[in-house]
Amino acid sequence: MKLLVIEDDDKIITAISFSCKLGWPEVEIVSAKWGQEGIDLIETAKPDVVILDLGLPDMDGLEVIKNIRLFSKVPVLVLTVDVNETTVVQALELGANDYVFKPFRQMELLARIKRLYKERLETDTSSPVIFGGFTFDYSRRSLYFKDKAIDLRCIENEIIRKLIQESPLVVNYSSLAKSVWGDDFEGASNSLKVHIRHLREKIEGDPSNPKIILTKIGVGYQLIKP
Ligand code: CA
Repeated sequence: MKLLVIEDDDKIITAISFSCKLGWPEVEIVSAKWGQEGIDLIETAKPDVVILDLGLPDMDGLEVIKNIRLFSKVPVLVLTVDVNETTVVQALELGANDYVFKPFRQMELLARIKRLYKERLETDTSSPVIFGGFTFDYSRRSLYFKDKAIDLRCIENEIIRKLIQESPLVVNYSSLAKSVWGDDFEGASNSLKVHIRHLREKIEGDPSNPKIILTKIGVGYQLIKP
């Protein structure tokens, strides 16, 4: 279990590490003092649960949640000194899963993290899918091809999942955007193009002459069994 703590106060990070050591020693803690750094770590460190302080030096915590939800469904527990109901409601509406006020009780915080982690495991029970030469593990965001693990970014993970689900059908831009972002917005097809290019760089022998992810011009993309 990997826990990402996005918090600028060292004392809080130390307190959380301490309660984990006592109550849940298997937890590995990664921390970030800045909002943007935290968002990046969700991509690179792949945490199972995130604790997010709403008062960060570089970004409003609510903005951080909004950014996280653009690409990831990782459970987020919000820490806040602001007991104002509006802040909590906004945080929950933007996609936070739970909240705790500061100063917090350590064992309660730990119990809440455990619950989020358990819920995540329960919803992520999908076993790896074998698709041609690919083995795709959605919950680990990994794709294995010819025994090589290919690390996927969150959005690439969602794209591959949808393309595998629909294969051999062509997935049009709009339904691909909806399954990735929950919405087909202006510019979505251009964003998809960029992510598809990155994916091809990871899996195609010759990315400029793709054999696995095919473009159907004006329609969408099709995944062919490698
Ligand atoms: Ca703070």
